[in-house]
Amino acid sequence: MFISLIGSKASGKEEVARYLVRYKGFTRVGLITESQITSASPDTNQTPALTFSSAKKILEHITPRWRTNFVTTDITNPVDLYLLWKRPFTLVVGIDAPMGVRYRRYCLKHSSDAGKKLSLEQFVDLDDSILYTCQQPPSEAKNIDNLSLGISAATLASNKEAAMVVALNAEAEPQPLMSPIIRNASESHELNLKRILASANVSIANTFQTVDDLYMHLDHIDLTNKERIRPSWDTYFMLLSELASHRANCMKRKVGCILVKDNQIIATGYNGTPKGITNCNEGGCPRCNDGTPCGVSLDHCLCIHAEENALLEAGRGRVRNAEGVALYCNTCPCLGCAKKIVQVGVKTVVYSKGYGMDELTLKLFKEANIIVRQHTPPTLSMEIGSP
Ligand SMILES: [Zn+2]
Ligand SMILES: [Zn+2]
Ligand SMILES: [Zn+2]
Repeated sequence: MFISLIGSKASGKEEVARYLVRYKGFTRVGLITESQITSASPDTNQTPALTFSSAKKILEHITPRWRTNFVTTDITNPVDLYLLWKRPFTLVVGIDAPMGVRYRRYCLKHSSDAGKKLSLEQFVDLDDSILYTCQQPPSEAKNIDNLSLGISAATLASNKEAAMVVALNAEAEPQPLMSPIIRNASESHELNLKRILASANVSIANTFQTVDDLYMHLDHIDLTNKERIRPSWDTYFMLLSELASHRANCMKRKVGCILVKDNQIIATGYNGTPKGITNCNEGGCPRCNDGTPCGVSLDHCLCIHAEENALLEAGRGRVRNAEGVALYCNTCPCLGCAKKIVQVGVKTVVYSKGYGMDELTLKLFKEANIIVRQHTPPTLSMEIGSP
């Protein structure tokens, strides 16, 4: 597994990397430039165990060693990130935290280094430049200690973050710096870290007061669960049922269902009014539109449930008592659907979220010898940190 940690300034990427190295046996990889190699005072805390001159070189190293676990905090250039992300062993983890929390962390970390002190406004500008513009890989001048080594601002100008610090420290207007990979304004708009953060495989809000709390959270969400990069059958079909639910038109809730036989899909379904009837969300079902409580007056409801639609689409003959037939639903079936599931001979039911009558449903399934399990894929669970 290769984990690429991305995030805003002082969000806690380094702490997550340290957690993975210390407790999960990951090897740190990173980008390095000649100026860093010749640096008189390398920062040993920040230096990765293995360094490379480009993201491509990292990829060449880790691809034949995909069974080994690697982590980096150095890939922030979108092009580099996508180069690595398309591989089946890569997980992109986005980390963020409130601006105030991050600024206080930054000040604390650099309290004894006058050269790195920033006002809140300067910090905001720096943060914006990292998140909203497409910056060069940090390898170009990752270590802003170079500032104290007498390296000229021009040398550092190819790195937005370092150049910004130069400009801010000199109280000069920041120079408009354009990464070579941006060819036009719209491309620059498309490719920025903020957008990539929104589509990361895992998002962590690091609002924790202590490192231990953060580490406990990472344990809790099982960050390195291999299902995040290649889902099990249960996760795969549950994600597909979640996708099917996006087509639901019922006013009450979005439910999706996938019916499989020997792990091959035989039917899909979502809830809503029958064909030719006005969609529920356009006023088609008076009961659903009246705000009737969950499970009440179902006999007046015009909507067909996701499970019913899937069973109807499959047809009784394809399901009846066949071994290997499983029904995946993102919500626990209601009693009405449960009766039909039993009658048609489904052998296994897997659901994710609870509904209002789970006890009754599960009792019926138990009596009918249907295997039931609740499964919430790691990618569907909330992974937001708590204050
Ligand atoms: Zn409805
Ligand atoms: Zn209804
Ligand atoms: Zn139902």
